[in-house]
Amino acid sequence: MSSSGIHLTTLGHRIRHHRVAQGFTLDELGAKVGVAGSQLSLIENGKREPKLSLLQAIATATGTEVADLISGEPPNRRAALEIELETAQASPVFRQLGITPVRVSKGMPDETIEAILGLHRELQRREREAIATPEEARRANTELRLRMRAQNNYIGDIEKLAEKHLKAAGHVSGALTHRTVIIMAEKLGFELIYVNDLPHSTRSVTDLENSRIYLPPASIPGGHGLRSMALQAMAHRLLGHTPPTDYADFLQQRLEINYFAAACLIPETAGVAFLQQAKKDRNLAVEDFRDAFGVTHEAAGMRMTNLMTEHLGMKLHFLRVDETGAITRVYENDDLPLPMDVTGAVEGQPVCRKFQARAAFTQQNRTTERYQYTDTPSGTFWCATQTGSGSDGEYSVTVGVPFDDARWWRGRETSDRAVSTCPDEACCRRPAPDLAGQWAGRSWPSARVHTHMFSPLPRGAFPGVDDSEVYAFLDRHAHEK
Ligand SMILES: [Zn+2]
Repeated sequence: MSSSGIHLTTLGHRIRHHRVAQGFTLDELGAKVGVAGSQLSLIENGKREPKLSLLQAIATATGTEVADLISGEPPNRRAALEIELETAQASPVFRQLGITPVRVSKGMPDETIEAILGLHRELQRREREAIATPEEARRANTELRLRMRAQNNYIGDIEKLAEKHLKAAGHVSGALTHRTVIIMAEKLGFELIYVNDLPHSTRSVTDLENSRIYLPPASIPGGHGLRSMALQAMAHRLLGHTPPTDYADFLQQRLEINYFAAACLIPETAGVAFLQQAKKDRNLAVEDFRDAFGVTHEAAGMRMTNLMTEHLGMKLHFLRVDETGAITRVYENDDLPLPMDVTGAVEGQPVCRKFQARAAFTQQNRTTERYQYTDTPSGTFWCATQTGSGSDGEYSVTVGVPFDDARWWRGRETSDRAVSTCPDEACCRRPAPDLAGQWAGRSWPSARVHTHMFSPLPRGAFPGVDDSEVYAFLDRHAHEK
């Protein structure tokens, strides 16, 4: 790119295209516009940027417009191939290989350029794939979360798009039926097909040629996951997605299709009306929101983060924590102190043991939400936690707010209270002194290898092993004898 933003290679190709179309040689056109043919050659090869007055003269001489000459489009297919090759050969990825670039001659067949380009495209694809290291993935994920935090985790355009398509499919109120989802797909010209042999690495596959969306079979009749997956597959089309160029782009698309599905399952207008009424009644509860719209507890909690700051002015946090205590999904704009790695990533980090999100796993009655006030270095927070189990084991879903906003929520009168001083190690990360005294040096835990992308290794006396957990385990079993 030149400083003026014009791609010189493309410009050169466009000038050559118009010169050749008029049947001029380099010298002939040069004579008409007052420069040497050799100068014109340099310009056509993208080696020199022409002055605007010269561009004007060339346009006049070839019977075209300056605007046409500086258009970003390659003038023809051959030029497109040559431009792509030149760009690929100028890229750092190629140059660091130390291979001499191919010089394209007039007589070189298109197929030869195509073959070389095929190798370049594959080289670039592999390079992009290699970039998606865990560190890059965490960084991209963190950037996206912070960007969404700055906009209240709310995307107005997708809300409107969802309501438009729901209305067109005849949805009026309440839970979105599977039938309505099918109608939405039909209106887009798609047929939903349930198959048993989807590739393991996919959630759905869309056949654009034959307008079919392939989905996994309903393992649970009437299960809610299918509506969401079908909506997500449609969202790629409705949002005009093109194949992601990098990991950040991939994450952005994932976020958008999830958002669209959520906005269909709990439409903005009805969802906000429900929450406003519940707040008025001082009876806000994730479980009620969940049941009113027939979605999972997790989806209801996450949806609250889209709507409550934007429409009710309430800041809040959402945590999904797995049975190891690691955060698997998170959103906060209420400054709840969360564990973070050096890249600023929160996913995969172990949440404080004092948080209800983690303490809930040790409680007996887990059929309903548990409430807790937690004092932290950033103030006191109230939260409601529900546990459940899925294909990845047990998990907890927590939605919470700063102390002052607890008054709008059901469960505010709880007497359960905890004190968290995390990230202070003494809060919950160091083994209890008496247990450490008993077991340190007298035990040998063998670490499990973590395969999850976001999982950092817990710190402790043994790499990859949480020794406070190990010592508590040993203590428990030693007393069984
Ligand atoms: Zn702690």
